[in-house]
Amino acid sequence: EETIKQLKEQIREVPDFPIKGIAFQDIFSLLKSPVLLKTVINLLIEDAKSFGTNVDIVLGLDARGFLIGPSVAMALNAGFVPVRKGGKLPGDTISHSFEKEYGKDVFEIQKDSIEKGQNVLIIDDLIATGGTMLAACELVKALGGNLIGCQLMIELPSLKGIERVTKVFKGIPFKVLINY
Ligand code: 5GP
Repeated sequence: EETIKQLKEQIREVPDFPIKGIAFQDIFSLLKSPVLLKTVINLLIEDAKSFGTNVDIVLGLDARGFLIGPSVAMALNAGFVPVRKGGKLPGDTISHSFEKEYGKDVFEIQKDSIEKGQNVLIIDDLIATGGTMLAACELVKALGGNLIGCQLMIELPSLKGIERVTKVFKGIPFKVLINY
């Protein structure tokens, strides 16, 4: 609890970013600390292990999911796969359009990145409205992956993102480190 409080104190809230009315939680003010970087990654690894299922693939979401996903994947002896914004990935991809807290976007994944039946854990820095996480879940489903859970460093509970995702993907467990 004391540690979580410490992490929270180092996440800077930036008003009106990226647009007016959004209070952006900036994790870079936390990650720059050598001690807190290690702390937050270790806590995320503990959370990932507590899903209790063998994970084949950690799926990191563009772009801040890329900062934490590979460390968690290594600790789980899993591979890492990126979901990227439209047009960034080479080769055959599938895509999914979605709404997020501040605007529309499209997510893509490489078709051969997940094999049918592989256990997939999705990881991102923050869930707000849940549109981003929902799109990622849809991509895992489309490739035939077995979604075992979703993991976040931060949840903004007032926006009810987890509710939105679990309405569609019923029974999918979530793990969140920090609540606001
Ligand atoms: P959602 O789709 O849940 O509304 O928005 C979540 C996505 O937008 C995540 O990929 C996250 O990185 C980004 N995002 C939205 N708001 C914030 C914020 O306040 N701080 C950070 N770090 N990311 C945010």
